[in-house]
Amino acid sequence: PGYLRNLLPDSAPNQPDSFQHVLDGEVAQLILEFIRLHIQAKILPGVTHWQSPNYFAYYPSNSSVAGFVGEMLSAGLNIVGFSWIASPAATELEMIVLDWLAKMLKLPEDFLSAGQGGGVIQGTASEAVLVVLLAARDKVLRRVGKDALEKLVVYASNQTHSSLQKACQIAGIHPENCRLLKATSSTNYALSPEFLSETISQDLTIGLIPFFLCATVGTTSSTAVDPLLSLGKIAKSNGMWFHVDAAYAGSACVCPEFRHYMDGVEEADSFNMNAHKWFLTNFDCSALWVKDRSALVQALSTNPEYLKNKASQANMVVDYKDWQVPLGRRFRSLKLWMVLRLYGLENLQCYIRNHIKLAKHFENLIAQDPRFEVVTPRIFSLVCFRLLPVRNNESHGNKLNHQLLDAVNSTGSAFISHTVLSGKYILRFAVGAPLTEEKHVNAAWKVLQDKATSLLAESL
Ligand code: PLP
Repeated sequence: PGYLRNLLPDSAPNQPDSFQHVLDGEVAQLILEFIRLHIQAKILPGVTHWQSPNYFAYYPSNSSVAGFVGEMLSAGLNIVGFSWIASPAATELEMIVLDWLAKMLKLPEDFLSAGQGGGVIQGTASEAVLVVLLAARDKVLRRVGKDALEKLVVYASNQTHSSLQKACQIAGIHPENCRLLKATSSTNYALSPEFLSETISQDLTIGLIPFFLCATVGTTSSTAVDPLLSLGKIAKSNGMWFHVDAAYAGSACVCPEFRHYMDGVEEADSFNMNAHKWFLTNFDCSALWVKDRSALVQALSTNPEYLKNKASQANMVVDYKDWQVPLGRRFRSLKLWMVLRLYGLENLQCYIRNHIKLAKHFENLIAQDPRFEVVTPRIFSLVCFRLLPVRNNESHGNKLNHQLLDAVNSTGSAFISHTVLSGKYILRFAVGAPLTEEKHVNAAWKVLQDKATSLLAESL
């Protein structure tokens, strides 16, 4: 911490920096000099290399030439496409590519832009869940009266990403009415429909109003998959909005063999996947689809005089400013368009399958070493595992795995992350960087084994 403050001046320069000379003259040489002096020397030492083939932490954040070209075009054009009229191509391309992606994911037709629904690119999955929560909140309040805010209840499993909790805080949902139902190893950390039904019944008895259910396909800790069909039916029978968060695992569902994890999405009101995670699209690009776009628009639209125009007034166009929190928006669809065009569905499927194959390979390596265990069944490209505690001493086991994580990451040759499931400290190995090959997985495993050997020897 603080390393960069020692390398950079205390305040911004009064006069333009040497980049001005770059613009004036010997361009290439000066750019290289700038990179060497400033980027390589000062910035790269403080960069976590998310694109490294040895990156296995959190979830991936892919970059690709296609995504980069799209990003570059977007930066160059630098339009601010809040309304259709502010740059028609931006809105229209976004509608088209989200329809393309919806078809690749075999989303129900209700999510396509031809009907009452449609897709929109949000910056992140957190923004996606926030806007649908606001839409759902206002929809129910229109029905039951706006004084009922404190009676509204949100449901999800305790494995749901913390962005839901943040969205509830922003939306004014009473903190005690945010039900994060405990999911256990008995369901592989998926939300139990029975538990949900019971909780909803109890809440109804005391006069509360269930209005929002969030299910996840591929939870952040362990890729648990909530049973969408049964959960969706419960949501529907209680008049609740049903949101599906497939931020990470949605990408895998473009492969027919993994699409079944999304079965039941027909019941959903909204569905989200992050193209910026595992889909070769440079950050940020979070795809959100809704079945009823008017719910979003009713919650989020404003219509000031200075933005009025013929196309919007005549209701002939989509104005994405009414589907999101900010007014301004970038031309993000360019990068998704580039990715879809320059790879094509088949290459994207191969890309996903290859990572899943590498994760299976890692799982097999673990299975061959009796000192380790795989903790939850691997579904996609994340392996949750741990070094087994010595003499069944769980608290020592937790300490040991924490030390193992630190020891591996301190080498700088691989980067992994952790979670806690049922009180156990678990290591997460997420394969998904574009350049990762089997040799990188093997090398990371070797580091893990070597560090485990040293730690076990020390703890004897
Ligand atoms: N949902 C899930 C399942 C995630 O795994 C994550 C991040 O890893 C998020 C939501 C939040 O994503 P974002 O950073 O796009 O808000």
